[in-house]
Formats: sequence, structure tokens, C-alpha cells
Amino acid sequence: MSRKHRRPGRHFLQIPGPTPVPERILAAMSRQILDHRGLEFGELGRRVLSGIKGLFKTQGHVIIYPASGSGAWEAGLSNTLSPGDKVLMCETGQFAVLWEAMARRLGLETDVVPTDWRIGADANAIEKKLRADTEKKIKAVCVVHNETSTGCLTRLDEVRKAIDAAGHPALLMADAISSLAAADVRHDEWGIDVTVAGSQKGMMLPPGLSFTAISAKAIEATKTAQLKKSYFAWDDMLSMNATGYFPYTPATGLLYGLAEAIDMINEEGLENVFARHRRLAEATRRAVQAWGFETQCRDAKYYSPAVTTVQMPEGHNADAYRKIVLDNFNMSLGTGLNKIAGKAFRIGHLGDTNELTVLGALTGVEMGFELAGVPHKKGGVAAAMSYIAETANPAQAAEQAAAAAA
Ligand code: PLP
Repeated sequence: MSRKHRRPGRHFLQIPGPTPVPERILAAMSRQILDHRGLEFGELGRRVLSGIKGLFKTQGHVIIYPASGSGAWEAGLSNTLSPGDKVLMCETGQFAVLWEAMARRLGLETDVVPTDWRIGADANAIEKKLRADTEKKIKAVCVVHNETSTGCLTRLDEVRKAIDAAGHPALLMADAISSLAAADVRHDEWGIDVTVAGSQKGMMLPPGLSFTAISAKAIEATKTAQLKKSYFAWDDMLSMNATGYFPYTPATGLLYGLAEAIDMINEEGLENVFARHRRLAEATRRAVQAWGFETQCRDAKYYSPAVTTVQMPEGHNADAYRKIVLDNFNMSLGTGLNKIAGKAFRIGHLGDTNELTVLGALTGVEMGFELAGVPHKKGGVAAAMSYIAETANPAQAAEQAAAAAA
């Protein structure tokens, strides 16, 4: 008979999503089920459908599916495109690879703009492709904003400019699954037509919801789109959502959590949320640099505020190392995906994180190197600590602590 062994303290879930769910959200979700056609639900529906717009910086509509981010990917493509349509996909890493494979499976023709998986999407290369497309066969440009596999953030503003400079009418679709509420997403200002996101990353919720911000141009595209869809058709959603309801049974528990998450993000201030992520990401990179390792992202312009992918030294397997960290320190780090499997690991620093959770995680990473016999320089955690202390703002911290206690 096996005996369970209790691991004291909390598990450090430092993967780049799903991320730990704050107590406030857990409590908000811990409610009895309500009638999804009743008055109370209508209020909740209107509250979340309106609140989520602020996080995308859009005045337009955001659809909420009870599906993971991949569902919103599929909905985005199938509601706006027709079989055989050409889409430009930017291969920034594994999630871009998966989105491209989905597009092909749905019957789209894909044209891939490659990268070396160490930068964000290349706006110049996109512009070139679009300029060469004189017959305007490309119907959409698909870009992963925060490539969770590599820790590279694409400059969506530059992609927008590239499309405009080429004078091309293609739709712009952005995957903000691991950037929403971690990095700035300006759906309207950047002229994005379809922005998809998920609940389980910066939003601090359990997996199970996806969000899709859609532009008027994307809605217009639905009128001619011939790809098949039924459950994921936007039209029924749009008409039911107008009064706060859904065409099918919504994930009511998760929606209670979503309402709480939106409140929490607004209480902190969206821009403060981004600044916190940038600061903790920089602390993490300073640790990586001090250990003498390279981040997968090789250009500071594309550094992700949500996740840092760390290259392992030659001859050391990243997954064997991760197991040592898990066994010894009860911490999950993200695995390397696809062509960087075994060669890199990922430190998630998004969602409900603060200075000490990140420092705790970095401590486990550094001790793990020691235990795994991975050659490294000492002082990564110390470098992160120095940066965090140097960038602390005691006056602001006192003000925020007083406001939180009031
Ligand atoms: N896109 C990105 C950037 C992701 O990080 C993920 C998941 O980690 C996905 C897409 C797939 O989303 P999901 O697993 O929620 O379906």
C-alpha cells in the first residue's frame, strides 16, 4: 500500500500558465449555481462582458467562450475566412506552429514567415510579403503577441504599421493568450481585428475561458466567411450577449471568478499590472545573466514581461534539471517545447506574482543548478534582489499598503 507524503507549504507553480489563482478569485467562484436565464445572471453577464473590454482597450465586442485559448483561435479563423483563403502566419515559436497547423487543418492555405525562435515576429518581413501580394490573396496576418514557448513579445504596433505601409487589406489576428493582463494589448489603437486570450495566464483564473475581441472589420468578414462553424459562430453570441446572456449554458462559476479578476486588475491599475510584470521579468533576466546563461530571446526589444525561457548549457538536459527542482523544492518550471525541448526551460512570472514569489522561484532555480551539477556562476538571486531593491518605491508602497488596509 502506498503512503502519501505531504509536501508542506505551497507548490510553486512557475510555469507560464496556468498560473496560481488568488484566494479572492477562488472565493468568488465558490458559489451555488445560478439560473443562467435569470435576472441575476444577466447582471453578471453584462458586468463581465463590459469589464473585459477595458483589458483589451477596446470599445468593441469581446466574446467569451467556455473553451481554452485554442477554441478562440479556431473561432477567429472560422468566422472570418473561407476554405482555400491564404493566411500569413509568423512562426515565432511553438504556439505559432500550432496555430498554423490548425489553420491548415481547417482548410486554409498558409504562408509562413519564419524566425529563429529568438525574436518576435519580423514586421519588415511581413511588410515585404504583403507588398509582394499584389493580387491581395492574403486574407489575414496571424501573429502570436507573447510567444509563451520562447519568451519573445512581438511588437504588434509595428506589425500594424507594416500592414498599413503595404496598403494591404488583410485582417490582423493576434494571439494575446499569454499577454492579456501581463503586457499592453491595444486592440483598437493597433487596429487588430481579432485578439484572442485565455483565462489561465495573466487573468489569474483557472483554465476554461477564452476571450476574443473583434473589430467591426472582422464582423463584416463574417458575412462572407465560408469555413464551417456552429458552436463557435459569433453571430448567435453577439445577439445574445447584447442583453448579457449566452446562446448556451455559460461557465457560470468561472464568470464569477472573471468578474473578481477584472475588479482586482482595475484596483491595482492596468498600467501598474504591466509595470509589475516588466519589473519582475527584468529581475529574472538579471538572474539569468548573472548565472552566465542566455535567454532564448536574444534581442531586448522583444523581451517578454510574462515568461523567461532560459537556455541550458550544452550537455545538460533541461527536463532532467526541472525534475530535480520539482523533487527537491516543490516547484514546477515550464518545459522547453518542440525544437527547444530538453534544451531550455521556462520561468513563468505572470499573473498573481510579486517580488518574493519571483525571488523564491529564482532561489529554487539557482539551488537546482547546484544539485543538478549544472555549471553556473553564483549570484543570480543576488542580482535579482539588488534590482528589486533598487527599483522599489517606498512612498508608493506605503500609499498602496494604506489603501489596501482601508
Ligand atoms: N497561444 C499561446 C501563446 C499559448 O501560450 C497557449 C497556451 O499556453 C495557447 C495558444 C494555447 O492555448 P490553450 O492551451 O488555452 O488552448
